Amino acid sequence: MPDYDVIVIGAGCGGITAAALLAREGRKTLVLEQSDKIGGCCSTYERSGYRFDVGATILEIITPFERAFERLGTTFQEEVELEPCDPVFSVIFPDGSRMTYPASIEEKAEIISRISPEDGKAWLEYASYIGDFMRTAVNGFFLSPVNNMVDMTKVMLKDPHLLKFLPLFTSSFEDVMRKYFKNERVQDSLSYPGKFCGQPPALAPGIFAFLSYAEHEGVWFPRGGMIAVPEALRRCGERYGLEVRMSQEVSKVMVRDRGVEGVILADGTEITAKVVISNINAKRLYLEKIGEEHLPWLARYGMKSYRLSASAPMINVGLDYRPPLDAHHTIVTDSMDKINEYWFGGMRQGKLPSDTYGLVCFPTFSDPSMAPEGHHVLNIVQSGPYNVKEIDWDRDKKAYGERQLELLSEKAIPGLADHVEVMDVLTPRDYERRLLTPEGAILGLDMDLPSSAVFRPAARSKSIKGLYLAGASTHPGGGLPSVIASGIIASDLVSTYE
Ligand SMILES: Cc1cc2nc3c(=O)[nH]c(=O)nc-3n(C[C@H](O)[C@H](O)[C@H](O)COP(=O)(O)OP(=O)(O)OC[C@H]3O[C@@H](n4cnc5c(N)ncnc54)[C@H](O)[C@@H]3O)c2cc1C
Repeated sequence: MPDYDVIVIGAGCGGITAAALLAREGRKTLVLEQSDKIGGCCSTYERSGYRFDVGATILEIITPFERAFERLGTTFQEEVELEPCDPVFSVIFPDGSRMTYPASIEEKAEIISRISPEDGKAWLEYASYIGDFMRTAVNGFFLSPVNNMVDMTKVMLKDPHLLKFLPLFTSSFEDVMRKYFKNERVQDSLSYPGKFCGQPPALAPGIFAFLSYAEHEGVWFPRGGMIAVPEALRRCGERYGLEVRMSQEVSKVMVRDRGVEGVILADGTEITAKVVISNINAKRLYLEKIGEEHLPWLARYGMKSYRLSASAPMINVGLDYRPPLDAHHTIVTDSMDKINEYWFGGMRQGKLPSDTYGLVCFPTFSDPSMAPEGHHVLNIVQSGPYNVKEIDWDRDKKAYGERQLELLSEKAIPGLADHVEVMDVLTPRDYERRLLTPEGAILGLDMDLPSSAVFRPAARSKSIKGLYLAGASTHPGGGLPSVIASGIIASDLVSTYE
């Protein structure tokens, strides 16, 4: 008899969702997490009284979260205290001017109309079309397995309405933006969220146009920090007997005759199970933890051909003043052309962006408990490659952080650099060390069309029996709503495996 029915490698949101749901079904389930914190890229740590998030900074598209908690016999709202974020985001342009968007679609149309009346109208059309696409996709495609073309066809047949959105699958994010919006300032204010899929506007598939709309279906911050979400999933799973062991690194997946038998820990302990669910990067899983010798040639070749997603340095600061920002999220933006230019030019040559742009998250805007009274926290997410040539991430990270804060003080957030009590820079190398994420890839694998849906590593392995994937490396991809959906899909697939 194996020791467990199911072993889950990694307690990121995808892994802990799958584990909790399988425990709820009565399966003897064990989660093995190498770090001492739950949640992976959706986690929170404390430094000198400030609470800093590790990666993800807000919650949106919460349908998958609600589904997961319902299946656990409770509700998302009952388990996690959610603070609504309205305004949804603010934009600071390269000339220092600002614009703040409320949650209301109509009020946003009025604000856009003041700059360009035709774009104000176009925003309403965009919100209607893209909103319809997002709801259709989230309720069907997003929460369904697409292991092969048969699955994909089933999804399409179940909801033929999806075909209406075919143009989004055949255009880029930039095409969609330019089709709807003509004014450059409006385009710039709406296009940055496209980067949340880890691609510049010219490369991101048009389906990610929903990222520039999603906030209008609601944005929330979980009180106490992002870790509240995986902690709640763990707590719910433990009600049904889920076992979670921290600081336990899996070094190998045991495979015999193309079937899983369990895992071997870094200290040599063997734990057996009928099913193994991997929540770690799929390339690392197949090529290192399983080993090429267990893979058919096509799987070996396919796995090597995937590109890792982009990395993102994050600067966390504890401040002794209230930064002059108008929303929980502020996008310090640049034009689509500049963002494309950096991606194809500087970034590929290992350079940092010459201008400061990025996402400034202001958790104490919504939840003052994230800092000592009267103090504030910012998480600044930027662009920057793992293999940067200009600096050494480890040696120069303090200087890098200080320089970025100075630039932000000059261009966007007056006073910032003079009010820093604590600064913690998380570089792509830090993510790699802390979470064993290869090259600090924040979304697992690239999120382009050739690595999406049926082309992404399958949730039920095609090469190894009893092996399943949950998390950013499998369908529907990186980002919290997606990885929670992947956890639901993995648990559904395991339920039908015997
Ligand atoms: C800077 C940054 C900003 C982001 N912003 C957002 C955002 O605002 N909104 C959003 O939706 N998404 C955001 N994301 C992306 C999102 O956080 C991730 O896509 C998502 O959390 C990944 O979840 P996952 O289930 O794939 O697991 P991960 O979070 O990757 O967790 C995997 C877990 O596996 C563990 N592990 C690895 N190897 C082993 C091993 N050998 N043995 C045992 N355990 C192991 C790791 O320690 C980790 O806990 C951001 C990410 C980053 C880094």
